[in-house]
Amino acid sequence: MTTIQTPEALATLPAPRDLVATLPVYSTAGGTVPPRWRASSNESFRPPSPAVLAAIDAAARRCQRYPTLQGEPLISALSSDLGVAAAQIVAGGGSLAVLQQLLTAFAGPGREVVFAWRSYEAYPILVRLSGAQDIPVPLTAGHGHDLPAMAAAVTADTAAVILCSPNNPTGTVLGAAEVEDFLAGIPAHVVVVLDQAYIEFADDAEASSRQSLALLAAHPNLVLLRTFSKAYGLAGLRAGYLVSHPSIAAAVRAVSPPFGLNAVAEAAAVAALADTGALAANVSTVREGRIALHAALASRGLALPDSGGNFLWLPVGEGSAALEAACLAQSVSVRSFAGEGVRVTVGSRDAEAAVLRGVDAWLAGGRV
Ligand SMILES: *Cc1c(COP(=O)(O)O)cnc(C)c1O
Repeated sequence: MTTIQTPEALATLPAPRDLVATLPVYSTAGGTVPPRWRASSNESFRPPSPAVLAAIDAAARRCQRYPTLQGEPLISALSSDLGVAAAQIVAGGGSLAVLQQLLTAFAGPGREVVFAWRSYEAYPILVRLSGAQDIPVPLTAGHGHDLPAMAAAVTADTAAVILCSPNNPTGTVLGAAEVEDFLAGIPAHVVVVLDQAYIEFADDAEASSRQSLALLAAHPNLVLLRTFSKAYGLAGLRAGYLVSHPSIAAAVRAVSPPFGLNAVAEAAAVAALADTGALAANVSTVREGRIALHAALASRGLALPDSGGNFLWLPVGEGSAALEAACLAQSVSVRSFAGEGVRVTVGSRDAEAAVLRGVDAWLAGGRV
């Protein structure tokens, strides 16, 4: 194919909307050769369980058919699992897709969306994509959400606030009481999203899930966002959902593309939800690794926050790039945010050991 590249021809090409040029680019792990271990994307360290693989296989064998329109079988399984009405759940192709639909329905040009920063790097992309303005509020010195500052950032133009707990990439956790106090200070017409992508890894996961679901009754502006990508280990298939007041859910459903949850992902998510043994095993392996790696890093003199996720945050500032390079030299990828820190996924004992070798080399080299 010949591409037309004269300045005249380029000037007449269709121009995307102006906001397209303002979108931040989602980062990828560094390194030019595939590392032996991946500790860079908060993926599960373990492939799907036999029960989930069987469901995937069965669904793949009939994938000439369309999936259900809205993911009804998954919604019904979630409804009984969580004890909420099906009308309160919207399922989609990953929680990011659901968040994008939520922002499409509730944010948009002239509106603002407040979130902590640093937090999940997809937020500014999705907020700007909706046409709204992103309002990042710096984290506290302890790497957690500065809730008073976030409440103060809410204006008449605010469409939504996004809370992330455990926060990606710092791992800090917001307690149910903190979220409740925060909600009490936010106008009822502002959507408050609580992104709980890592909730299953928290020390008191079941209690915190129950407590956050209980907040929905008194706070119809609250939206809980959850995913099958992390503790359930289905990142590659894309399945996630929100739980909210039925009228918010209805608006999100109205803007969702039909068939947004593919049939294989849906079957896998339903099977993963039922395989409570596999979930418990994944979570306990992650928790053990998190405790051990945190202790090993702290014993080397590194100050790092406690994490409720399947990852740890090393706030090494300007040392981030060198630490990432030292880890890659041990054939383990990590996620570096230049000038801020490095996020390390836990779960694989081999990957954790390789990260420690990388950290030791980095410390021996004077952190540069
Ligand atoms: C990984 C992650 C998600 C998951 O997104 P999916 O689209 O469900 O894979 C959402 N939020 C946060 C904070 C994450 O880290």
